[in-house]
Amino acid sequence: MSDGAPALGGAGLQAVSTLPGVGPALQALLHKLGLDHVQDLWFHLPLRYEDRTRITALSDLRVGQDAQVVGVVEAVEKGFRYRPQLRVAIGDDTGHSLQLRFFHFNRAQAEQLAVGARLLCFGEVRHAALGFEMVHPQYRRIGAGETVVVEDRLSPVYPTTEGLGQKRLAGVIAKALALLPDETELELIPAALCEPLGLASLREALLTVHRPPPDARLDLLLQGRHPAQQRLAFEELLSQHLSLKRMRAAVQRRQAPAFASDGALRARLLAGLPFALTAAQRRVDAEVCADLARPHPMLRLVQGDVGSGKTIVAALAALAAVEAGWQVALMAPTELLAEQHLRNFRHWLASLDVAVEWLAGKQQGKARQAAMRRVADGAPITIGTHALMQEGVAFTRLGLVIVDEQHRFGVQQRLALHDKGVDRAHGSVPHQLVLTATPIPRTLAMSAYADLDVSVIDELPPGRTPVQTVAVSNARRVEVIERIRVACGEGRQAYWVCTLIEESEQLRAQAAEVAYAELAAALPDCRVGLIHGRLKPKEKQAVMDAFQAGEIAVLVATTVIEVGVDVPNASLMVIENSERLGLAQLHQLRGRVGRGAIASNCVLLYQPPLGRLARERLAVMRETSDGFRIAEKDLELRGPGEVLGTRQTGQLSFRIADLTRDAHLLPAVQRVGERLLADYPHQADLLMARWVGGAARFARA
Ligand code: ADP
Ligand code: MG
Repeated sequence: MSDGAPALGGAGLQAVSTLPGVGPALQALLHKLGLDHVQDLWFHLPLRYEDRTRITALSDLRVGQDAQVVGVVEAVEKGFRYRPQLRVAIGDDTGHSLQLRFFHFNRAQAEQLAVGARLLCFGEVRHAALGFEMVHPQYRRIGAGETVVVEDRLSPVYPTTEGLGQKRLAGVIAKALALLPDETELELIPAALCEPLGLASLREALLTVHRPPPDARLDLLLQGRHPAQQRLAFEELLSQHLSLKRMRAAVQRRQAPAFASDGALRARLLAGLPFALTAAQRRVDAEVCADLARPHPMLRLVQGDVGSGKTIVAALAALAAVEAGWQVALMAPTELLAEQHLRNFRHWLASLDVAVEWLAGKQQGKARQAAMRRVADGAPITIGTHALMQEGVAFTRLGLVIVDEQHRFGVQQRLALHDKGVDRAHGSVPHQLVLTATPIPRTLAMSAYADLDVSVIDELPPGRTPVQTVAVSNARRVEVIERIRVACGEGRQAYWVCTLIEESEQLRAQAAEVAYAELAAALPDCRVGLIHGRLKPKEKQAVMDAFQAGEIAVLVATTVIEVGVDVPNASLMVIENSERLGLAQLHQLRGRVGRGAIASNCVLLYQPPLGRLARERLAVMRETSDGFRIAEKDLELRGPGEVLGTRQTGQLSFRIADLTRDAHLLPAVQRVGERLLADYPHQADLLMARWVGGAARFARA
């Protein structure tokens, strides 16, 4: 296995250059796509299909649909609106017409598209000023006496690269498929494991997805639910699962410090708290402590809905490390959240004489140098942002890494922090605790976090009253402001969140300034504050302190307050332009209220008209405050890529599988995965190499 390719033998391992017609230029293009061996071409799967098996009459076109049409050119107009464009109107015998629009065209093309020419076009139907249009359709001029022949099967569309057209790529893949060996040689999952699942055979599956036979179920193929696609999705999910498990096993083979201590600090912290832990917190704390007492690194994800009390569980874990004489690093995704942890930890730990260091990006030269020196000298707990990972930050005895709100960090960042703690002298690595408030549906967690153990804090502290949520049109903004006035008169505090989704922090800050001015003018009797990402850390801190202390009644904020901010007295949350936000974000924001005993309200201001998705999202928010239900719904509406954030793009990008569509395969994936790792490790290696390639090699290293 010198170059990491599997020892499958046979044609699969031949270089692509051994295929007829593949010269150095084509080989280089294929290499760009990661296609070096014949088997890579077998597993280079279509992204989707185009249906050219029929001609759609111009009277039957629907917006958003990909359609193949035939029409005669009735008018041509060359124009300049912002840039040169060519507009061609075609008509058919239904009496309807369609506009074709081109922004890039050469003279020959323009001449070809003359009045009277008959065209076969394929493209996406869109709304135009008058009727429908296709922008840059694929087209072909039909000769005078020629009868149009439609395709007899779906046309695959492959991921490709500049300079390599679909036709040419499909041609090479067809040549590779001619070398596909018979089933026994191709199949890596032992029949005993695979057969009970009733999936198609691998050979048949590959041939079907690359060249769907004319009688294949088109509807299933277009949805990705065809048995052939399901067979491949299963194998892909399986190999992803195997590689995460391998990565986990590789980490867990390393040494980690087994924390042994008398628990004195933990006991003192618990005794000083104004509340008792919930049963769920106690259970999760026990799971964490059991991990920490072992000489191998903990890899544990703690999930808990907003407000379920994850921070104290993290603090208890930190003390277990400190008691045993090890250092702790706590990393948060935003400075605001990191500062809040800093305040909480300092407040809790002050009487225990445990120092808490601060390391953040914006910290100035001298302060930073001094903090880094103290960290190097063994400061017990250090809190910060990703600055914690920067070069030059050296821990002496890092025993535990805590990462809050993990979905905002990529897997790579997490690994980098992990590497910080590698103790070269003893070969030990730190334990890792990941906290997330994004409840991940179980099926998804099994797959996406197969490298982590999962603990769930499935209970909120007692005495919380559910947040009443309403959706209100912007037209009734004045009423909403009046409601804030009344609430503040009663001594309540409110958030007003501006959600302008602009690329720049500056524009976001401007939007918040505008809302701030409006509210300050409308509410002369209330003190209104403003917080956004452009403020200096000191200014942010001052505003948060004033809000916490009740000196500010209404806090106008950008979504910087999305995660973690904890002011129990705030009981009214207004979210502007809530129709623009996803469910996870809305849920996070709403979680800022309902933290005290006072009944809380959330007002989702929206700008009508609402699209279908936005309407559904707001309905879900009104109906439930259960984070897991919201996450399930979110998954349904947006797909797992969005739900998992960076993780999807970092590690889990699939060629054919779709975690939402194929979630029903996951239990079998787990089952078969376990058996493969235990009884057929060599086949597991080959599967990973086939599907995951580089990542699998990395995991074995
Ligand atoms: P999250 O899980 O969203 O990070 P926090 O850790 O910020 O939640 O906790 C939310 C609030 O609940 C904090 O004010 C915290 O002090 C409080 N809290 C945590 N655990 C309990 C408990 N068992 N009983 C009462 N209040 C608690
Ligand atoms: Mg939190």
